[in-house]
Amino acid sequence: MELKEKLFYKRETGFKKVWDQLDAMEEFSVGYKKYLDAAKTEREAVTETIRIAENAGFKPFDKAKKYSCGDKYYVNNRNKSIALVVVGKKDASYGVRIGAAHIDSPRLDLKPNPLYEDLDLALLKTHYYGGIKKYQWTAIPLALHGVFVKKDGTTINVSIGEAEDEPCFVVTDLLPHLSQEQNKRPLNEGIKGEELNVLIGSRPFNCDDESEMVKLNILNILFEKYGVCEEDFLSAELEVVPAFKAKDVGLDRSLIGAYGHDDRVCAYPCIKAVENLIAPERTAICLLADKEEIGSVGATGLDSDFLRHLISDLARNQGVEPDDALRASQCLSADVNAAIDPTFQDAFEKKNGSFINQGVVITKYTGARGKSGANDASAEYMAQIRAMLDEANIVWQVGELGRVDLGGGGTVALYVAGLGIDTVDVGVPVLSMHAPYETVSKLDVFMTFRTMQEFFK
Ligand code: MN
Ligand code: MN
Repeated sequence: MELKEKLFYKRETGFKKVWDQLDAMEEFSVGYKKYLDAAKTEREAVTETIRIAENAGFKPFDKAKKYSCGDKYYVNNRNKSIALVVVGKKDASYGVRIGAAHIDSPRLDLKPNPLYEDLDLALLKTHYYGGIKKYQWTAIPLALHGVFVKKDGTTINVSIGEAEDEPCFVVTDLLPHLSQEQNKRPLNEGIKGEELNVLIGSRPFNCDDESEMVKLNILNILFEKYGVCEEDFLSAELEVVPAFKAKDVGLDRSLIGAYGHDDRVCAYPCIKAVENLIAPERTAICLLADKEEIGSVGATGLDSDFLRHLISDLARNQGVEPDDALRASQCLSADVNAAIDPTFQDAFEKKNGSFINQGVVITKYTGARGKSGANDASAEYMAQIRAMLDEANIVWQVGELGRVDLGGGGTVALYVAGLGIDTVDVGVPVLSMHAPYETVSKLDVFMTFRTMQEFFK
């Protein structure tokens, strides 16, 4: 009916609108899967991002240099967070455009003194990072990534468990036959934090009648491979992540399964949107943050002054008052949303939830309960973004995180907005968010890329 057509807001699959873009989606997803496999930790994401950026002509920021339209530079924040900048036609007094995503993901961190031997097995104590369902991390292949930093400052990169011929690691679980007591625990205590111990070896150094010979053998292997001893764990950042590779999901190959979509699924589109950007109207910044999963804390999280310093440096370089640049700037906070799961529909409110294959999700506010901890984007800014998306024929949807009063979550949005920058959340709907293996759709990833492209141009 015509009047319905005119007045109703209709939610439907995105395929109708972008059937002619299936090849482009596929091509984009190939690059994305490579990025996922190369960048399982925030440090690896920074390294991989620099590799892509330098290939595209980005150079490290040089304070002494005078920057003008079309120049491309990057600022590496402690190898854990990074900004890629393409200088625009208009100077910073007109504001900059920021696409902000995060490159840390939930995982198991090794404790500072992790290695021990028990019952002739060598194990590593972990402390989980971010929101995880602990039981999901047992009995799956795990890899070890990160760095040892020696007292003299030498950094030793570690990555074990990804290549076909490399060993992996595992957190063991109790067999069902003997789980009568464990089965009575509530699900969130099915596996407890102190039970997330990673099995790392079982063979002694030699047959001598000495204690802790399995642990000694592990330390000897580490010494021979990396030149480190047990004390070097004290100044290490070692992260245990799933040893899975990114893969197409579904007979129709429409989806991608991987560890760490949250939030590389937004980081990668942001990188690709600035990679080949030439002379944007306003300076474009792809900002990839660390520590989002634990509250954007620390010097590499977005609750720091990193972004303020970044924009101030640009403004001063152009003879602009830094505060003027901040006030005029705008941001898309690019992070994942929870896609409505057909199996768990009760957790969502369908009129305002996000759906797989309905495109990039615009989230006015996140937070918990009465929007606590949210950045509630203004109607004015929502209108601007709506218009931009429709103008570019991008498939998009609105989405709250889930049912009111059931839980909640946040993103980096409120920290960017706290600088006086208009900010709204956009991103990709994800199934099994924060699980060791998360699922997204190729259509939604591609629409997020096109959104960032449109925003920056
Ligand atoms: Mn996220
Ligand atoms: Mn998250």
